[in-house]
Amino acid sequence: MNSKIAERFILGKVIAQKEWRLGLNSLYVDAAIEPFVAGQFTQLALDEDCHVLRPYSFVNPPSESPFEFYYSLVPGGYFSSRLVKLKPHDPIYIAKRPSGRFVLSSVPDATILWLFATGTGFGVFLSILQTQQPWLRFQKIVLVHSVQNTLSLTHQHLVQLWQHQYPERFYWMPVVTGENLSDGQRGAVSKRITHLLASGELENQTGLSLSAQTSQTMLCGNPAMIHDLSELLKLRGLLVNHVKQPGQITIENYWKLDNKNNA
Ligand SMILES: Cc1cc2nc3c(=O)[nH]c(=O)nc-3n(C[C@H](O)[C@H](O)[C@H](O)COP(=O)(O)OP(=O)(O)OC[C@H]3O[C@@H](n4cnc5c(N)ncnc54)[C@H](O)[C@@H]3O)c2cc1C
Repeated sequence: MNSKIAERFILGKVIAQKEWRLGLNSLYVDAAIEPFVAGQFTQLALDEDCHVLRPYSFVNPPSESPFEFYYSLVPGGYFSSRLVKLKPHDPIYIAKRPSGRFVLSSVPDATILWLFATGTGFGVFLSILQTQQPWLRFQKIVLVHSVQNTLSLTHQHLVQLWQHQYPERFYWMPVVTGENLSDGQRGAVSKRITHLLASGELENQTGLSLSAQTSQTMLCGNPAMIHDLSELLKLRGLLVNHVKQPGQITIENYWKLDNKNNA
C-alpha cells in the first residue's frame, strides 16, 4: 500500500459472510476505523492498491462491531461478484473515515418519520433505528421495505424487537413486488411503494397522515423508486431536504438511474 492510500485506507479482516438467500448477503468486517454516525457509509476495496472502490452503508449501530455490510450480488457487477467470494480471515481494505450526510442530524424535526427502502437500502435504516436518536425525536416511525420476494425480507429479529418495544409507535410495512403472496404471508403486500402511497393504502394501514406538516421522509436504494416516490411526495407539498434549504425528503441513491431495477 503506498503512503497516499495508507492515509485513507486501512487493512481490515473478514469475520463472516452470511447468505440470507442466493445473491443477498451480509459481510461482517473487523477494522480499526474512525467512529461513524448511523446512516453513513464507507468505501471498501479488495486489492492493496485500492484502485476499485465501492461505497457500502453500515448496518450495525456505531456502538457495535464487527461492521455489517448488507449487499446484493448485482448481475455482472464487478465488485459485488468478488465480495460474495470472501471468506473469514480474508483481507479487505476499508476507508478510515466514514462518509455521508444521510444521517438523522440532517433531518429536521417532525411528528412522524417515514423510512422507505428498496432491497439492501434497508440496511442503513437498521443502523439508524438501532440508535436512540430516532426514538427520542419522532413520535411515530414507519419502516417500509420493498423487495422482490419474501426471502429478501431479512433482519426480522430487529423488526420484531422494535414491534415489541414500541407497539404504539413503530409500523412495519413490507412490500413484495415480484410474488403472489399466500395467505400465510400476512402483512406483506404485492404492490409498489408508489402505488401504496398514491392509493392512500399506506396512510390507511398505519392510520397516519403523510404531509409536510406532520412528516419527514428518508428514501434509500433503487434510484427509480426514489425518483418516482419523490415526485409523489412533492405533489403533497414536501420538498427535498438541502443543507441550506430544509425540506422533508432526504435521499440516498445507491446507483445512478438506468434500466436496472433490482436493488
Ligand atoms: C452512498 C452509497 C451507499 C451504498 N451502500 C450499499 C449497500 O449498503 N449495499 C449495497 O448492496 N449496495 C450499496 N451501494 C451500491 C454499491 O456501492 C455498488 O454500486 C453495488 O454493490 C454494485 O457494485 P458492482 O461493482 O457489483 O456493480 P458495477 O459493476 O459497479 O455496476 C453494474 C451496474 O449495476 C448498477 N447497480 C449498482 N448497484 C446496483 C444494485 N444494487 N442493483 C441493481 N443494479 C445496480 C450500476 O448502475 C451499474 O450500471 C451503495 C452506493 C452508494 C452510492
